[in-house]
Amino acid sequence: MKTISPSSISRRELSRLALALPAPLALALLAGRTGGIAFAQDGTATPKGTPVMAPTPECEDDDVDETLAQTEGPYFSPNSPERTSLLEDGLPGTPLTVTGYVYSSGCAPVERALIEFWQADDAGVYDNEGFRLRGHQFTDEDGRYELTTIVPGLYPGRTRHIHVKVQAPDGPELTTQLYFPDAPANDADGIFDPSLVVDMVDDGTRDKLAFFTFVLEE
Ligand code: FE
Repeated sequence: MKTISPSSISRRELSRLALALPAPLALALLAGRTGGIAFAQDGTATPKGTPVMAPTPECEDDDVDETLAQTEGPYFSPNSPERTSLLEDGLPGTPLTVTGYVYSSGCAPVERALIEFWQADDAGVYDNEGFRLRGHQFTDEDGRYELTTIVPGLYPGRTRHIHVKVQAPDGPELTTQLYFPDAPANDADGIFDPSLVVDMVDDGTRDKLAFFTFVLEE
C-alpha cells in the first residue's frame, strides 16, 4: 500500500511555531496531517484578513494515494466565473477559507491545475440560475489554491459539503466533495467519506480556516 508519513521537525522549528502561532493552529500544524496527506511544518499563521499559507506537502515515498472521486450530484453548472472568493455583498453565512495544494500521485505540485468549486448557500440552497457560490481558479507555481467562501448550509439527505472538480493541465478530471470534521450529519450521509474531511482550524480569533490537498492520478 502506498503511504506517506509525517516528516520530522526540528526542535528549533517547534519552538518557532509555538511562539508564532495561536495554540490551536500550532497544534493543528504539529499534528502533521491535513486533508489525508502528511505535511512539512512550514505553515505560517497570519492575522485575520490576510492570506494564509497552508503547510507544504512533503512525501517520503514516491507515491501518495489519489483523492477519492465522488458523484458530481445534480447541481453542477459549467462556465462558472474565475475567482478565488465566492463572497458577495449581503451573502449570509460563516466566512470560510479553504486552502491547500494540488499534487500528483508522484508527489509533485501541479501548477495551473483547474479547480472548480460549487456549494449550497447558508440556507442549503444552490443557485441554479446564476453563479452564486460557484467559481473556478488555477493553482499557482507551487500547486497552491485558496478559496474564500462561506460554510455550506445543510439540505435534506446530505451532510455539509463542498463540491469540487480538479484537473491538471491535459489530465483527467477528478470530481469529488469536501466534508467537515465532526459534522453531526456525516455518519448518516451515505456519500460521506472520512478521507475527504478537511482539517479545520478555528481558534476563535479569525474566520474559519480549512486545509485540504488534492492528489491527482498521474
Ligand atoms: Fe451538494
